[in-house]
Amino acid sequence: MTLKLFNTLGRKKQAFKPIKDKFVGLYTCGPTVYWYAHIGNLRSYVFADILKRILIYNGYKVKQVMNITDVGHLTSDADTGEDKMEKAATREHKSAWEVAKFYEKKFFEDTARLNIINPDIICRATDHIKEQIDLIKTLEKKQYTYIAADGVYFDTSKLKNYGTLAKLDIKGLKAGARIEIAEGKKNVTDFALWKFSPEGKKRDMEWDSPWGKGFPGWHIECSAMSMKYLGEHFDIHTGGIDHVPIHHTNEIAQSEAATGKKFVNYWLHGAFLQLKEGRMGKSEGNIILIDNLEQEGFDPLAYRYLVLTAHYRSSLVFSKEGLVSAQTALNRLREFVKRLRIVRGDVSNKSFSKLIIKIKGKFAKVIDDDLNLPRALAVIAEFEHETNRLLDKNKIGMLQAKQAMGLILDFDRVLGLNLAEVKEEKLPTELMKLIKEREQARKTKDWARSDEIRAELKAKGIVLEDRPDGTTGWKMVN
Ligand code: AMP
Ligand code: ZN
Repeated sequence: MTLKLFNTLGRKKQAFKPIKDKFVGLYTCGPTVYWYAHIGNLRSYVFADILKRILIYNGYKVKQVMNITDVGHLTSDADTGEDKMEKAATREHKSAWEVAKFYEKKFFEDTARLNIINPDIICRATDHIKEQIDLIKTLEKKQYTYIAADGVYFDTSKLKNYGTLAKLDIKGLKAGARIEIAEGKKNVTDFALWKFSPEGKKRDMEWDSPWGKGFPGWHIECSAMSMKYLGEHFDIHTGGIDHVPIHHTNEIAQSEAATGKKFVNYWLHGAFLQLKEGRMGKSEGNIILIDNLEQEGFDPLAYRYLVLTAHYRSSLVFSKEGLVSAQTALNRLREFVKRLRIVRGDVSNKSFSKLIIKIKGKFAKVIDDDLNLPRALAVIAEFEHETNRLLDKNKIGMLQAKQAMGLILDFDRVLGLNLAEVKEEKLPTELMKLIKEREQARKTKDWARSDEIRAELKAKGIVLEDRPDGTTGWKMVN
């Protein structure tokens, strides 16, 4: 089976070929830590997590690097406006450093609740100022830069293929330039590499540089840190779809200008989570957090499940009804796991192995087809349905239940729903004793005692599941 990924660069599904045999260098654009990550932001990180898990499932060793933007991201992506960090510091009466620390911690608490595997390397922009300055110096030496009133800029007109990723219509952009342009910027698409600190104002975050006191532009951090940890040419870069026209376009421009090499082979972008009313955004003031969902009684993993129900390249409209269905589906899967755990009896069923192989093949095929998780969930539902049917008819026993369990846990390496943690519910010892006593009574054909115990347990809300070869398990009923 070949893993195929949709590459934004070229807009095609392509067979994935790593640069180095069985090793994948993966860079994920991380959060700007000036505010809580909302469930839309988190959708992007679930997508990157699924990609990473599928690569691992395919036998690759993955090195994932994620940046933390803790300086330089301005309120407008076009290098104008305030630094989001400094603005938040004013709002919260804290320093920009304190703001960054607080929201970074919160971000990783949220990703942990969504069972997102931590990146191998987490790197902060503020910890890599030297690397960013060095990269700008290289660009300066190669004459890709110029100095404007408010900073050092990258001259995009010097690159023949600027904007290929986004299929930018450069001429059209120039003609219709309506976006705010910083003073002295030569081309609309030029972007800041280094911004000067405003005169007469002391910023919380500023550094000396060969061009004057200031701070790095937003894009340069991702080029400097990805190349530091993954090399000048690496395999996969991910981010939200909004990063295509500016942030990733500029990362490619400055990295390839500096090294003269291709920067990244595969660019993958996650579509947005929307609200029925439209965009969910910090500026729209309509953000939803994982905390909010939890307060309403949802399990954070139900949100993860909801994300899996939509393909990462399709936008997903968030609704409470959708989340309720996701929670129900997740609960059903957990019940299935619990049921598998308590199956006893040694019915033999050779054909079940064939079903396992068939389902495993189907699952591998759909996840390898550009991470088609909605189809993967359908494959699992098919397996669950068939296995439950066989269990109901006593056509499979403990051995097959174990096989089924192994398969579900194997799939969970990709789903990340923590299904291994679903525990068999433990009954108090005296009730377990009663169940055992009843099993014994059935063996000795003492039906009167057996029925008596069944009734006693039923009165306590426990229903026994009997099969000809013995009591197979029990269920709590309300
Ligand atoms: P930020 O913290 O603003 O830098 O954004 C973090 C990530 O979330 C970026 O990769 C964005 O592309 C992504 N993002 C922002 N809004 C949404 C949304 N509504 N749905 C999905 N991803 C989003
Ligand atoms: Zn980035």
